[in-house]
Amino acid sequence: MKSAIKVCSAWKHEHDRPVYTLGSTCPVCGGDASNSAPAPFDPADSYGEYRRALRSRDRD
Ligand SMILES: [Zn+2]
Repeated sequence: MKSAIKVCSAWKHEHDRPVYTLGSTCPVCGGDASNSAPAPFDPADSYGEYRRALRSRDRD
């Protein structure tokens, strides 16, 4: 069975975290929503974790 859940295709640029939707567009930024499979996290984005760590540290 195919998942109907989609994720904002531009979330990396538009949002802090993936925005999921059942529609064809992102409810937050109005951009295209793409199928959430494969994983919304890009395994090649090796600096993502580092960036997120920096960002959370900034909140302190
Ligand atoms: Zn969006």
